[in-house]
Amino acid sequence: MRLVLATRNAHKAREFELLLRGHEVAALPDDVVLPPETGATFAANAASKARAAADALGVPVIADDSGIVAEALDGRPGVLSARFAGPGATDAQNLAKLLAQAPAGSPLAYVCALVYRDPADGTEVVFEGRCTGVLDDEPRGMGGFGYDPAFRPDDIADGRTMAQLEPAEKSAISHRGRAARELAAWLAAR
Ligand code: IMP
Repeated sequence: MRLVLATRNAHKAREFELLLRGHEVAALPDDVVLPPETGATFAANAASKARAAADALGVPVIADDSGIVAEALDGRPGVLSARFAGPGATDAQNLAKLLAQAPAGSPLAYVCALVYRDPADGTEVVFEGRCTGVLDDEPRGMGGFGYDPAFRPDDIADGRTMAQLEPAEKSAISHRGRAARELAAWLAAR
Protein backbone atom coordinates (compact mmCIF):
# COMPACT_ATOMS: atom_id res chain seq x y z
CA MET A 1 0.00 0.00 0.00
CA ARG A 2 1.01 3.66 -0.25
CA LEU A 3 2.37 5.07 3.01
CA VAL A 4 3.56 8.64 3.45
CA LEU A 5 6.62 8.68 5.70
CA ALA A 6 6.45 11.66 8.06
CA THR A 7 10.14 12.49 8.37
CA ARG A 8 12.63 15.06 7.10
CA ASN A 9 15.55 12.69 7.78
CA ALA A 10 16.87 11.38 4.44
CA HIS A 11 18.82 8.53 6.11
CA LYS A 12 15.67 7.23 7.78
CA ALA A 13 13.70 7.54 4.54
CA ARG A 14 16.26 5.39 2.70
CA GLU A 15 16.18 2.79 5.48
CA PHE A 16 12.36 2.61 5.48
CA GLU A 17 12.25 2.28 1.66
CA LEU A 18 14.53 -0.74 1.98
CA LEU A 19 12.58 -2.18 4.89
CA LEU A 20 9.07 -1.81 3.47
CA ARG A 21 9.86 -3.02 -0.03
CA GLY A 22 6.39 -4.40 -0.79
CA HIS A 23 4.87 -0.96 -0.12
CA GLU A 24 5.20 2.45 -1.72
CA VAL A 25 6.93 4.69 0.81
CA ALA A 26 6.13 8.24 -0.29
CA ALA A 27 8.01 11.35 0.80
CA LEU A 28 6.33 13.92 3.03
CA PRO A 29 5.25 16.97 0.98
CA ASP A 30 7.29 20.08 1.79
CA ASP A 31 4.31 22.08 3.03
CA VAL A 32 3.37 19.69 5.84
CA VAL A 33 4.61 21.05 9.16
CA LEU A 34 5.72 18.45 11.71
CA PRO A 35 5.35 19.28 15.43
CA PRO A 36 8.43 19.69 17.64
CA GLU A 37 9.52 16.52 19.45
CA THR A 38 8.54 17.54 22.98
CA GLY A 39 7.11 14.21 24.20
CA ALA A 40 8.57 12.21 27.09
CA THR A 41 8.62 8.97 25.09
CA PHE A 42 9.55 7.82 21.59
CA ALA A 43 5.96 6.62 21.06
CA ALA A 44 4.46 10.00 22.04
CA ASN A 45 6.72 11.85 19.60
CA ALA A 46 6.07 9.40 16.76
CA ALA A 47 2.30 9.61 17.35
CA SER A 48 2.25 13.41 17.27
CA LYS A 49 4.16 13.42 13.96
CA ALA A 50 1.85 10.75 12.51
CA ARG A 51 -1.26 12.68 13.60
CA ALA A 52 -0.02 15.98 12.16
CA ALA A 53 0.84 14.43 8.80
CA ALA A 54 -2.28 12.24 8.57
CA ASP A 55 -4.58 15.16 9.43
CA ALA A 56 -2.85 17.43 6.90
CA LEU A 57 -2.86 14.88 4.07
CA GLY A 58 -5.91 12.68 4.72
CA VAL A 59 -4.01 9.52 3.75
CA PRO A 60 -2.32 6.71 5.75
CA VAL A 61 1.03 7.76 7.16
CA ILE A 62 3.86 6.28 9.18
CA ALA A 63 6.09 8.25 11.53
CA ASP A 64 8.92 7.17 13.74
CA ASP A 65 10.87 8.53 16.62
CA SER A 66 14.10 6.89 17.59
CA GLY A 67 17.21 7.37 19.62
CA ILE A 68 19.88 5.82 21.74
CA VAL A 69 19.63 4.90 25.40
CA ALA A 70 22.87 4.61 27.43
CA GLU A 71 22.69 2.52 30.61
CA ALA A 72 25.62 4.43 32.16
CA LEU A 73 23.70 7.70 31.67
CA ASP A 74 20.41 6.46 33.18
CA GLY A 75 18.83 6.23 29.74
CA ARG A 76 20.06 9.51 28.30
CA PRO A 77 20.15 10.86 25.66
CA GLY A 78 16.89 8.99 24.82
CA VAL A 79 14.31 11.26 23.18
CA LEU A 80 16.95 14.02 23.10
CA SER A 81 19.38 11.94 20.96
CA ALA A 82 19.29 14.30 17.97
CA ARG A 83 20.05 17.29 20.23
CA PHE A 84 22.30 15.67 22.87
CA ALA A 85 25.10 18.23 22.34
CA GLY A 86 22.62 21.10 22.05
CA PRO A 87 20.07 22.48 19.58
CA GLY A 88 21.30 22.08 16.00
CA ALA A 89 24.15 19.76 17.05
CA THR A 90 25.71 17.63 14.33
CA ASP A 91 25.88 13.82 14.46
CA ALA A 92 29.62 14.11 15.13
CA GLN A 93 29.08 16.48 18.10
CA ASN A 94 26.41 14.22 19.61
CA LEU A 95 28.61 11.16 19.20
CA ALA A 96 31.63 12.94 20.74
CA LYS A 97 29.52 13.82 23.79
CA LEU A 98 28.37 10.21 24.21
CA LEU A 99 31.98 8.97 23.94
CA ALA A 100 33.05 11.56 26.54
CA GLN A 101 30.29 10.71 29.03
CA ALA A 102 29.78 6.94 28.82
CA PRO A 103 32.56 4.39 29.36
CA ALA A 104 33.77 2.23 26.47
CA GLY A 105 32.11 -1.18 26.63
CA SER A 106 29.02 0.11 28.45
CA PRO A 107 25.58 -1.11 27.34
CA LEU A 108 23.49 0.83 24.84
CA ALA A 109 20.18 0.31 23.09
CA TYR A 110 18.73 1.87 20.00
CA VAL A 111 14.94 2.24 20.26
CA CYS A 112 12.46 2.97 17.48
CA ALA A 113 8.75 3.67 17.91
CA LEU A 114 6.93 3.46 14.60
CA VAL A 115 3.34 4.67 14.39
CA TYR A 116 0.88 3.84 11.61
CA ARG A 117 -2.12 6.15 11.36
CA ASP A 118 -5.05 5.98 8.96
CA PRO A 119 -7.16 9.16 9.18
CA ALA A 120 -10.07 7.49 7.35
CA ASP A 121 -11.07 5.39 10.38
CA GLY A 122 -8.76 6.73 13.09
CA THR A 123 -6.66 3.55 13.25
CA GLU A 124 -3.43 4.22 15.12
CA VAL A 125 -0.96 1.47 16.00
CA VAL A 126 2.51 1.66 17.58
CA PHE A 127 5.29 -0.83 16.83
CA GLU A 128 8.49 -0.72 18.88
CA GLY A 129 11.87 -2.18 17.96
CA ARG A 130 15.08 -2.37 20.02
CA CYS A 131 18.66 -3.18 19.15
CA THR A 132 21.17 -3.65 21.95
CA GLY A 133 24.90 -3.14 21.81
CA VAL A 134 27.92 -1.63 23.54
CA LEU A 135 29.86 1.61 23.14
CA ASP A 136 33.10 1.31 21.21
CA ASP A 137 36.12 3.32 22.34
CA GLU A 138 36.35 5.32 19.11
CA PRO A 139 34.28 5.86 15.93
CA ARG A 140 34.79 3.30 13.15
CA GLY A 141 33.10 3.00 9.74
CA MET A 142 31.49 5.30 7.19
CA GLY A 143 27.98 3.79 6.84
CA GLY A 144 24.74 4.55 8.66
CA PHE A 145 24.41 7.84 10.54
CA GLY A 146 24.19 9.33 14.03
CA TYR A 147 25.77 7.16 16.70
CA ASP A 148 26.45 4.21 14.35
CA PRO A 149 30.27 4.59 14.23
CA ALA A 150 30.56 3.85 17.97
CA PHE A 151 27.64 1.38 18.36
CA ARG A 152 28.78 -2.27 18.41
CA PRO A 153 25.61 -4.35 18.06
CA ASP A 154 25.29 -7.49 20.21
CA ASP A 155 23.95 -9.33 17.13
CA ILE A 156 27.21 -8.88 15.20
CA ALA A 157 29.82 -11.36 16.40
CA ASP A 158 32.90 -9.99 14.61
CA GLY A 159 33.06 -6.68 16.49
CA ARG A 160 32.11 -4.37 13.62
CA THR A 161 30.25 -1.19 14.46
CA MET A 162 26.85 -0.38 12.96
CA ALA A 163 28.64 2.03 10.58
CA GLN A 164 30.74 -0.86 9.22
CA LEU A 165 27.71 -2.96 8.21
CA GLU A 166 26.13 -3.15 4.75
CA PRO A 167 22.68 -1.46 4.68
CA ALA A 168 20.94 -4.85 4.51
CA GLU A 169 22.96 -6.15 7.48
CA LYS A 170 21.96 -3.09 9.52
CA SER A 171 18.30 -3.44 8.56
CA ALA A 172 18.28 -7.11 9.61
CA ILE A 173 19.15 -6.26 13.22
CA SER A 174 18.30 -2.60 13.73
CA HIS A 175 15.62 -1.10 15.94
CA ARG A 176 14.05 0.46 12.82
CA GLY A 177 14.21 -2.87 10.96
CA ARG A 178 12.48 -4.70 13.79
CA ALA A 179 9.71 -2.11 14.10
CA ALA A 180 9.22 -2.00 10.31
CA ARG A 181 8.95 -5.78 10.04
CA GLU A 182 6.28 -5.78 12.75
CA LEU A 183 4.36 -3.11 10.83
CA ALA A 184 4.71 -5.08 7.57
CA ALA A 185 3.40 -8.25 9.25
CA TRP A 186 0.47 -6.34 10.75
CA LEU A 187 -0.41 -4.76 7.38
CA ALA A 188 -0.23 -8.18 5.69
CA ALA A 189 -2.58 -9.70 8.29
CA ARG A 190 -5.26 -7.01 7.97
P1 IMP B 1 14.64 11.52 15.52
O1 IMP B 1 14.02 10.15 15.54
O2 IMP B 1 14.48 12.19 14.20
O3 IMP B 1 14.26 12.32 16.70
O4 IMP B 1 16.21 11.36 15.63
C1 IMP B 1 16.77 10.37 16.38
C2 IMP B 1 18.24 10.57 16.63
O5 IMP B 1 18.67 9.35 17.25
C3 IMP B 1 19.10 10.72 15.37
O6 IMP B 1 19.41 12.04 15.08
C4 IMP B 1 20.36 9.97 15.77
O7 IMP B 1 21.18 10.81 16.53
C5 IMP B 1 19.82 8.87 16.68
N1 IMP B 1 19.50 7.64 15.90
C6 IMP B 1 18.29 7.11 15.63
N2 IMP B 1 18.39 6.00 14.87
C7 IMP B 1 19.70 5.85 14.65
C8 IMP B 1 20.43 4.89 13.90
O8 IMP B 1 19.91 3.95 13.26
N3 IMP B 1 21.76 5.05 13.90
C9 IMP B 1 22.38 6.06 14.55
N4 IMP B 1 21.76 6.99 15.24
C10 IMP B 1 20.41 6.89 15.30
